[in-house]
Amino acid sequence: MRVRVDLSYVDYNDVFQFLESLKHEFPEVGEYLNRQKNLPENLVFYFDFNDSFSEFEKHVRKTVDSDKNLHYDVAVDSKEDNTLTLLKPDDLEQLGIFICEFCGAVSSSEEEKYIHERAHYFF
Ligand SMILES: [Zn+2]
Repeated sequence: MRVRVDLSYVDYNDVFQFLESLKHEFPEVGEYLNRQKNLPENLVFYFDFNDSFSEFEKHVRKTVDSDKNLHYDVAVDSKEDNTLTLLKPDDLEQLGIFICEFCGAVSSSEEEKYIHERAHYFF
């Protein structure tokens, strides 16, 4: 499947750092980087991934969590299909983005987030 990673909020140097770390999780990313000479201008990356989106998300979270130089939250973009966005914790409030503590889903208000998070308690 085709997955998207939006790195437009990530510092330029961290983009390389992140992609390098991601290479260890996904050979697909290494192949992608070998093909590309330049990074996409909008810093939105597309990868072909041989598993589900949730599996992809798991790997990306693991990559970010295990690299102590990367201080980002991984958010699932609610407006685009199969898209993960990396955000700096400081940027979140400014952007009016609220992230579910359980699954990373993005809400646009505190209330929406609260309603969403409540759903997790029923599982
Ligand atoms: Zn959630």
